[in-house]
Amino acid sequence: MKISVKKQRLFLAHNWTIARGSSDYKDNVFLTIEKDNIVGYGEAAPNSRYNESPDKTIASINSVIDFLKEADFKDYQGIKLHLDKIINDQNCARAAIDMAILDWIGKSKKMPLYNYFGLKPENIPLTSYSIGIDTITNMQKKVEEFAHMPIFKIKLGTNKDREIISAIREVTNNPIRVDINEAWKLKEKALEQIEWLAGKNIEFVEQPMPSKMAEESFWLSERSPLPIIADESAVSNKDIPLIKGVFDGINIKLMKAGGILESLEMIKTAKSFDMKIMLGCMIETSIAISAAAHIAPLADYIDLDGSLLLANDPYKGIEIINGRIIHSDLPGLGVSEKNINK
Ligand code: MG
Repeated sequence: MKISVKKQRLFLAHNWTIARGSSDYKDNVFLTIEKDNIVGYGEAAPNSRYNESPDKTIASINSVIDFLKEADFKDYQGIKLHLDKIINDQNCARAAIDMAILDWIGKSKKMPLYNYFGLKPENIPLTSYSIGIDTITNMQKKVEEFAHMPIFKIKLGTNKDREIISAIREVTNNPIRVDINEAWKLKEKALEQIEWLAGKNIEFVEQPMPSKMAEESFWLSERSPLPIIADESAVSNKDIPLIKGVFDGINIKLMKAGGILESLEMIKTAKSFDMKIMLGCMIETSIAISAAAHIAPLADYIDLDGSLLLANDPYKGIEIINGRIIHSDLPGLGVSEKNINK
């Protein structure tokens, strides 16, 4: 078995700004596992919000390479349980390993993963397209440039939130969801903002307040005229019982959960509490976006636009046409490296 791990810089098509910070590029970690002439691809998108970094992610993956080399991939649940114990601070590293193994398993069984999980791609909801924080004119321009996308997710959390939404409503009537990324710190003010947003054809509000402010979030959610979706407050399965009844739904991401199998468990838990399921992403290439898309038929809301934000996606996988996710019928994740002609 050959395992390789590398860090690769991905440049963004536009500077990406959210309430927490700003960036022009993203360093993700890529993993390949080659065994019996089958190559499985995996990707990790380390996020400093969760104390992750590319170097720590690479170290985590390296720490289990000997274990993986000896592992029987037919015992995938056993492998997962072992990795859950060993890698507990870099969930994205587990996500990369999970993806690569499942890609390998799908390829060895010659079926796309959605088939393997018994899911129908026709049931995938339309994905939103995210607009990062920028000057109001630039945000309007981006919405116009992506006018073919049916739903927009607008990043908010500045002192110009109302101006931004009013300006965007001048250029589109499409549904809008907003993501505050924990930026609102006063519950009364947050409620006023949501009451204002409710008149603007807004689908839901994602993570309005910091994850630490659970009591204030409960107060807000009880009074909010719009559904509230947890993102930073719902990292993995164990967080869900703590926020049931507080939030209307959760944004599940492979990178937070630690992979596809853990995300499936989160979906099951959240559904048992009648919570809505959103499937989201970080800034990721077509490897991780395609991986998430295989379980997307189970979601109520999709936000899998990470690869569209890249200037140059080195991989090919799902296609997104007018918000509709289209799987290749290739086995496993259905991804391949793009041929770059030099
Ligand atoms: Mg979010």
